[in-house]
Amino acid sequence: MKAANSLLVLLILFAPGFGADHTTRIHANGEPARLTFTSTIIGATTMDKVKCAFGLPLDSKPFKGKTYAEVAKLLKEMGITAVCACPQDTELIRELHRAGIKAYAEMGMFVGKRHWEAHPESHPINAEGKPIGEPHPGYCGVCPNQEWLRKEILDKVADRFQTFEYDGLWLDFIRYPGRWEEKKPILEECCFCDVCLGKFAGSSNISYPANLKSTKDKAQWILANHRQEWVQFKCDTITDFVRQIRKAMARENSDAILGIFNVPWTRDEFDGAVLNHLGQDVKALAGYVDVFSPMVYHRYCRRPMRWIAEYTDWVRQATGRPVWPIVQVCDEPKPVKMSGDEVYRTLRTGLEADGSSGVMPFTLKHAVDDPAKLDALRKAFSGQK
Ligand SMILES: [Zn+2]
Repeated sequence: MKAANSLLVLLILFAPGFGADHTTRIHANGEPARLTFTSTIIGATTMDKVKCAFGLPLDSKPFKGKTYAEVAKLLKEMGITAVCACPQDTELIRELHRAGIKAYAEMGMFVGKRHWEAHPESHPINAEGKPIGEPHPGYCGVCPNQEWLRKEILDKVADRFQTFEYDGLWLDFIRYPGRWEEKKPILEECCFCDVCLGKFAGSSNISYPANLKSTKDKAQWILANHRQEWVQFKCDTITDFVRQIRKAMARENSDAILGIFNVPWTRDEFDGAVLNHLGQDVKALAGYVDVFSPMVYHRYCRRPMRWIAEYTDWVRQATGRPVWPIVQVCDEPKPVKMSGDEVYRTLRTGLEADGSSGVMPFTLKHAVDDPAKLDALRKAFSGQK
């Protein structure tokens, strides 16, 4: 028994991830680590949790004219321990590291009007065989199966980690299109472009009946006869691309962590739209993602503040991974005004949730440009009332 106990201790001590900070390691080759030892700070005090800025507005008043060393010092004084969407600046990243602050890159995946314009084939096609609409001015979701775009993104990931000493990468718009930041989301079933129809047939081993001529005919036939395979194909499209990104990142920096900004819906809400429409399956993604950052914007989504904690707990349960919810501190939708008190309570709700290992304010600029909000952020991160 004694020998067995010693062996157990050794196994734990040398298990991947033991002694790591807030994250669970995944194999550097990008493959899922099914037996990874889960290092978690669940149950730790909020002081130990990650306080991650989103963005670093060097032109905002508190930072303007300061050296990078002074910026890093100021961030520390604010209680910030990490910066996501950190500017691409070698010296700045080094200075943050010297201060013990992590620096993460951020990238938008399947989004961008420039893609619609330069590559019209990337404009997703709906079940009527027509290009989807622009549900919100400037928001243009892109077909996630375009090979040229996937290659472009993977090359960008490699380049980002070859050039800068980032500690990780957060993926945004890693899903099919849909405007979710509304009380009533705007969703169109897609994408039925030729590339997607071809890939779906190949991966699901199905043949389209010869009498189906138009895109609309094929789309309707899929939805009526192969709905389940279609949803699985969409989720696999997203999950497999995250696997590829992880691999591309790990080739350059095997210690870097991968996070995603996920849509804050459970599988049951909006008739399962997070899987059916958006193809974002957090349970499957957990094989490749170190940290989930659900976008729990309570004002945008017209939800009570307690929902921030409820959804954070749900993601933690569903994925087993650390969760750093990203919470709203901006005055949206207009004419909403968030007071300092509301910003404080929002940040604390995100930090104190049982399933939370950290929190991100969306965005740091909104917090530092308003003295009441900045004061609230300092108090929330230092644990003061
Ligand atoms: Zn497509």
